[in-house]
Amino acid sequence: MVTLLDTKAGAVLRPRHPEKAHRPDSAQLPKPDWIRVRAPVSAGYAETREIVQSHKLVTVCEEAGCPNIGGCWEQKHATFMIMGGICTRACAFCNVATGLPHALDPDEPASVGRAVAKMGLNHVVITSVDRDDLADGGAQHFVETIRAIRAAAPLTTIEILTPDFLRKPGALETVVAARPDVFNHNLETVPSNYLTVRPGARYFHSIRLLQRVKELDPTIFTKSGIMVGLGEERNEVLQLMDDLRTADVDFLTIGQYLQPTKKHHPVKAYVTPEEFKSYETVAYTKGFLVVAASPLTRSSHHAGADFQRLKAARLARQAAA
Ligand code: SF4
Repeated sequence: MVTLLDTKAGAVLRPRHPEKAHRPDSAQLPKPDWIRVRAPVSAGYAETREIVQSHKLVTVCEEAGCPNIGGCWEQKHATFMIMGGICTRACAFCNVATGLPHALDPDEPASVGRAVAKMGLNHVVITSVDRDDLADGGAQHFVETIRAIRAAAPLTTIEILTPDFLRKPGALETVVAARPDVFNHNLETVPSNYLTVRPGARYFHSIRLLQRVKELDPTIFTKSGIMVGLGEERNEVLQLMDDLRTADVDFLTIGQYLQPTKKHHPVKAYVTPEEFKSYETVAYTKGFLVVAASPLTRSSHHAGADFQRLKAARLARQAAA
């Protein structure tokens, strides 16, 4: 899939990844047979697409070219991406367009709320692009979206997947005060990869962000995810698990990195299903309440069912204490 020209940005075609356009194409490993993706053709998929489009919403499912879109949308599970489709960062793995974002849409929180109610979701995941251009990094817009969903669909539980709010003092506290049910912030990869894979971010800032959520409100579930196949060593993944447990993170997701275009970071390895199982086993021994690790695991995949598993695991641990 090559998406170098962004046709959604308006009548004028703009490069979707201007910062990557000059890079040479990277060599691509052949995909193993365990990376299988269903074509999105079902009636449920079409219905979800209609709701997303009629409410003028952006989804990370489409923007990131998620391989699970057929299965998720068939079950009316979509992850809404608020604050537009243009990101101020330029991560080497990500297919979301980079550039100067548009002004915030003040009607967006209410639109998301209406879409969630119409879809009848038990659990919704809300994420966003990075908005380094905003004084609060978009924290207040997250809060307004949480409030709008609660007003339109009071029984729906809310999971947010946030940027790192780097150099945005007070932003995290603002979002935590709105009490989402799950606070997710993805580390994405091991620290040795940060300069090449996630150059605008800082590993220990992200760890500290997750730890701070628990300090501010221990009732909120915390969650983080990484991709493997970016050149990391197994021991680095095990160290990252320890770092997340030190920050009291409840839920870890691990999935295979897939290269969106030839200009993105190359896939260095396809991790086998057996290796994913091994990561899952080790992660449970380190104390995570829930672990999802498989080639097609994405941080919002099966998020509703996983939220039920999280609640049950916390109750079981409290009962055993
Ligand atoms: S896994 Fe997440 S991003 Fe991918 S299609 Fe499902 S809801 Fe969307």
